[in-house]
Amino acid sequence: MSTADYNRLFVPTYNRSGAPMVKGSGVKIYDSENNEYLDFGSGIAVNALGHCHPLLHEALLHQASELVHASNLYFTEAQIVFAEKLIKHSFADKVFLCNSGTEANEAAIKFARKWAKKISPQKFHVLSFSEGFHGRTYGALGATSQSKFHMGFEPMPQGFHYCPFNDFESAKKILDSEEFAAVIVEPLQGEGGINCATTVFLRQLREYTHKHSIALIFDEIQCGIGRTGTLWHYEQHNVIPDIMTVAKPLGGGLPLGATLCTEEISSAITPGDHGTTFGGNPLACALGTQILDTISDPVFLRRVKINGAWLKEKLVDVARKYDIIESVRGEGFLLGVRFKDNPQHIVQQCRDKGLLLINANLNTVRFLPPLIVTQEEINSAVGIFERVLSSL
Ligand SMILES: *Cc1c(COP(=O)(O)O)cnc(C)c1O
Repeated sequence: MSTADYNRLFVPTYNRSGAPMVKGSGVKIYDSENNEYLDFGSGIAVNALGHCHPLLHEALLHQASELVHASNLYFTEAQIVFAEKLIKHSFADKVFLCNSGTEANEAAIKFARKWAKKISPQKFHVLSFSEGFHGRTYGALGATSQSKFHMGFEPMPQGFHYCPFNDFESAKKILDSEEFAAVIVEPLQGEGGINCATTVFLRQLREYTHKHSIALIFDEIQCGIGRTGTLWHYEQHNVIPDIMTVAKPLGGGLPLGATLCTEEISSAITPGDHGTTFGGNPLACALGTQILDTISDPVFLRRVKINGAWLKEKLVDVARKYDIIESVRGEGFLLGVRFKDNPQHIVQQCRDKGLLLINANLNTVRFLPPLIVTQEEINSAVGIFERVLSSL
């Protein structure tokens, strides 16, 4: 499909080209011209179990033959089973189900504000950090500090403030200056270029927000659900938020998001405060249950840790040989290779040679393979990456 064809059909929100994708199996995806790709983007960290995993296929067929949609005016069994598992496997007491990451963050911000306004009517401000990404709808966009996402869409909603990531002194200065309802942070930034929060930073935020009755929101939409080798990334810092948002891999490829929170936050919400027609749809929840059952297994998580370290080590070896590379970053299978210049042409050339990667920010190439990737597939992918680098 040419760029002209694309522009004939779609509002040009994406810059895409090439033959359409038609089929996937495990770590591989195929286009209509029968080109095979190693999918090290996983549909932007979504296909955690690869393409068309038999367990997901089976769950999908079974649920589709039982009940696809009933709305949130009623309970559905698939939703109850799924919510029980989310709560069992996390810090949370309660969960709100929706369809995407941005919606999970909208709910998180609304819940935090409703809760904080019980303390003081002016307690509505929200702090977030440089290079963070929280979504495209106005609330989540307001919490996204990168001004390139705001340009042309102003005015932004009121009450959003930003400060440098991993800099608690700056955060404290701003937090001291207004009445804050929430601090929202990605413990490991994805879109921003694979930037890890330090444990000290997260602990300082936790201590401050606890003391001043501010909701601490962890956006684990990209780093959660096993991608960094623990079910939730916050486990690695031993810092517990009040609210956590998850989405991307949660529905096994179907749209599913969740806002998890404590009883304290949940107690501020009453019927009618928030809602969604599709959120927590039985089909998506049936897949979500399979995802959580599979990924929460300690044996599965251990393999992510081992194979993620294996991939990182290989990338570090490559980085040593090419001085256009600045650093290798990240944890588990949320890895980035940071270049000194924009690496968009490297992503394109890898695709031409059968490896899908995704850029992040202006200088980083992301490696986000399905969590089930084998060491052999990792070796093939790194081989392609290195062939591209050596041909530049
Ligand atoms: C992708 C992403 C979002 C937005 O999720 P959508 O499902 O695209 O709305 C929010 N936060 C983070 C950290 C993300 O990676």
